[in-house]
Amino acid sequence: MARILMTRALDDSGHIVDVKDVVSGKACNCTCIGCQGAVWAMKGPIKAHYFAHEPNSIEQNSCTWKPETEIHILAKEVLATDRQLLLPIGTINPIHKNIAFDEMVCEVYEGRVIPDVIGFIEGEKVLIEIAVTHFCGRGKIKELKKVNATCVELDLSGFRVKGETISKEDIRGYLKRCPKKWLSVSPVGNFSEMMHTHNRRELIVLQSEYSSLSKKHQSDINRLSEEYNAVKTTYQSELSNLQRVIEQARHSENNASSILKKWDEIIRDKNISISKAEESIIILQDRYRTLEAEFKSRLYHIQDEIDRKQDLLDELIKLDELKLEFHTQVDDITRTIKSKEARLDAGEVEVRRRSASLDLIQKNLNDSFTSLQERESALTERSKDLASIVEIKSREQAKVMFEQLLKERSKDIKNLEEKKNKVIRDIDDLRRKYGSFIKIP
Ligand SMILES: [Zn+2]
Repeated sequence: MARILMTRALDDSGHIVDVKDVVSGKACNCTCIGCQGAVWAMKGPIKAHYFAHEPNSIEQNSCTWKPETEIHILAKEVLATDRQLLLPIGTINPIHKNIAFDEMVCEVYEGRVIPDVIGFIEGEKVLIEIAVTHFCGRGKIKELKKVNATCVELDLSGFRVKGETISKEDIRGYLKRCPKKWLSVSPVGNFSEMMHTHNRRELIVLQSEYSSLSKKHQSDINRLSEEYNAVKTTYQSELSNLQRVIEQARHSENNASSILKKWDEIIRDKNISISKAEESIIILQDRYRTLEAEFKSRLYHIQDEIDRKQDLLDELIKLDELKLEFHTQVDDITRTIKSKEARLDAGEVEVRRRSASLDLIQKNLNDSFTSLQERESALTERSKDLASIVEIKSREQAKVMFEQLLKERSKDIKNLEEKKNKVIRDIDDLRRKYGSFIKIP
């Protein structure tokens, strides 16, 4: 609830006063209804008029004033001035009737209770309780009944304040439609008679309604009972059918569960077989992989072998060619050897011939040497003979001539010896070259 302003306070003689009926400010001489602390009448030109606690008053700290306090006061004021109220007549299916009271009195003792308002109608009292937060308890109701009081409780707990101050007009409107409850109704008096007459009339209506309803109800009961019996019979036969069906169903269920159990066992066995098969498959896969690797390596080896064989085959083909070439060469060599042999044979003949010629030359040389020695000795003899005769010069001339001749002969011998050595060397070369092929003497 928004902040609600206080518009009622107590004047210096303790009566409730409206802010509009007092002078402005502190001079109003008013006190708070909730805490009895001093209040000032705030009557400015703009805002709605209201009472405010005197600034810094100690009492306001323990103030019990609430908007409900003012709602309660204003409702009493409305009732006192209007002297009329829309009230429910009767307690059974009540009708609402605007009751005009002769007099309205606020807060006077009535036996042991103090009602909020007492309304008088043709001398008869109607106690009016205004409940905003506090409703009449069982004790108070009991007390009211004890003194045969007629008392109505007006429920204002649902009233909602619009704006900063509580409008008396809103209270007046709400009093017409607020919930109202009779707490106690006196058994005698005009007002009470009006209430009771209504109740009696309502009761008679209700009774006739009840009896007609009861009759209808009885026929309904009979009909329903017949229907019930028919339904019961059908139900019982259906029940026995159902029981039979249930029995069959149970039997089927047992069969089904035994079949299911068997199925479960079969499934379990199958699962075991499947897992075994899976294991075997894994082992086989491993073995297959190993074999595959082995085969591959073997295949590589075989391929290598084939390559090697192919190389060998190629080499063999080459060897055949080489063999052919070799045979050709051998034939050539044989031919060459034969021709060389023929040449050697001719050479040998030549050597023999030359050797014989050399022997002859040697013999001639020996003979010449002997002859020369003889001539030398003869010349020596002659020189000895001539020595005395021929001058030293002639002797020297003879000696030069001799030496020249000797030189010429020695040269011839030397040439022949060189020829001989050359032939011997040729023979040795031939022996070295062809000694392994043919026999050379
Ligand atoms: Zn106060």
